[in-house]
Amino acid sequence: MKTAWEKYTEEEKTQVFAFAEEYKAFISECKTERECVRKAVEILKAHGYRDLAEYEKSGETLCAGDKVYANNRGKSLCAFVIGEKPFKEGIRLLGAHIDSPRLDLKQHPLYEDGGLLLGKTHYYGGIKKYQWLSIPMALHGVVCKKDGTVIPVSIGEDPNDPVVGITDLLVHLAKEQLEKTVRNTVEGEQLNITLGSIPLCTEDDSETDRVKKNILKILKERYDFEEEDFISAELEVVPAGPARDYGLDRSMIMGYGHDDRVCGYTSLMALAKTERPDRTAGIILVDKEEIGSYGSTSMHSRFLEGVLVTMMHLSGGFSEYELRQMYAHSDMLSNDVSAGYDPNFSSVMDKNNCAYLGRGMSMVKYNGSGGKYHCNDANAEMIARVRNLLDEENIQFQTAELGKVDAGGGGTIAYILANDNMNVLDTGVPVLGMHAPHEVASKADIYEAYRAYRAFLKKI
Ligand code: MN
Ligand code: MN
Repeated sequence: MKTAWEKYTEEEKTQVFAFAEEYKAFISECKTERECVRKAVEILKAHGYRDLAEYEKSGETLCAGDKVYANNRGKSLCAFVIGEKPFKEGIRLLGAHIDSPRLDLKQHPLYEDGGLLLGKTHYYGGIKKYQWLSIPMALHGVVCKKDGTVIPVSIGEDPNDPVVGITDLLVHLAKEQLEKTVRNTVEGEQLNITLGSIPLCTEDDSETDRVKKNILKILKERYDFEEEDFISAELEVVPAGPARDYGLDRSMIMGYGHDDRVCGYTSLMALAKTERPDRTAGIILVDKEEIGSYGSTSMHSRFLEGVLVTMMHLSGGFSEYELRQMYAHSDMLSNDVSAGYDPNFSSVMDKNNCAYLGRGMSMVKYNGSGGKYHCNDANAEMIARVRNLLDEENIQFQTAELGKVDAGGGGTIAYILANDNMNVLDTGVPVLGMHAPHEVASKADIYEAYRAYRAFLKKI
């Protein structure tokens, strides 16, 4: 099979690289689910989208062509452009998740040891812990104070900012560590980030915790919060620095959080470019996929259903019957990264049924583990309709499984909306090093996914 690169004209290549620049800027700036939602709202507003709550307040009727978004607690988001046809004929939906593996600061994070101030973390999502050592890290998130103020925090992205991190054990003294299994090389409770080392000058130098006091003074001056405010904070420790071109030909991008902001961004931009569809078209960007999709901002939340009910109500009337009809006739692409073939680790792949970088958007009928367990095995009829559309539009795609049978496994949000009775198919972008602090994806695959999502929202 040829790569997408070989079919591109020079002009198309320019578009591929230009889209990659916009995407790189997005993932370099948006490293938490909140930052993704904030940026997505900004992009949607620039494309004529309005908050659905405004319609609710004013009682305006939702008409074909209207563009609305709904922001769920700043951590998940859906947006729709209203179609010409009634809701009961079904909608077209793109779904992706915008949370990524990381280290979260605990509620009582700070302690001193050996003259250093450290911050305790609890890792979020499935990570190989050792990969998160010895790299520059940034702090992103919010601190919510008792008076209701929400303080955004971002330290470590500006080249002049300091970074934080977790140092690894020196190899000279790692005799015992090197005998351990990879799983146990670093324990969860060893993922403590170093935050500082200058003690606060006090009159009584027998005073304890002076490095902590000094850092708290810096935080108070810069962000106006106290130690106890960590209790109601969400501070995420993420790899610092921007995404970069990868490979001497600049064909790939190395960056933090391709999983799954690469699908979040391509879905978002596909919707932003969609005008007057026949069927209502939308996206849902969700949080908490990496920890099982539980909670109010996850795909399992009934937030999306609430938005659908509201939109039906505002566009002429809601009925349970119409809602059920809508689900039954809706099509969804569940967009998430898939595992790309990595020559260094080829033994876990079935070479006939895996994704290769540069060969286009990946289409995954099923994933799961232990005999497709826990997966949405998409209907062949749906796949036939999608591949027909992609061929018509000359969009390059490849089919993929996560890896060899019984090599491991994984899942996506696909089954959740399929349980609601939508037609759902997994598609996405192949990546190398999934869940590592820096993952790699092909610019061609990103662009083909974007083109596929545009075609899907308009035509399926
Ligand atoms: Mn994912
Ligand atoms: Mn993941």
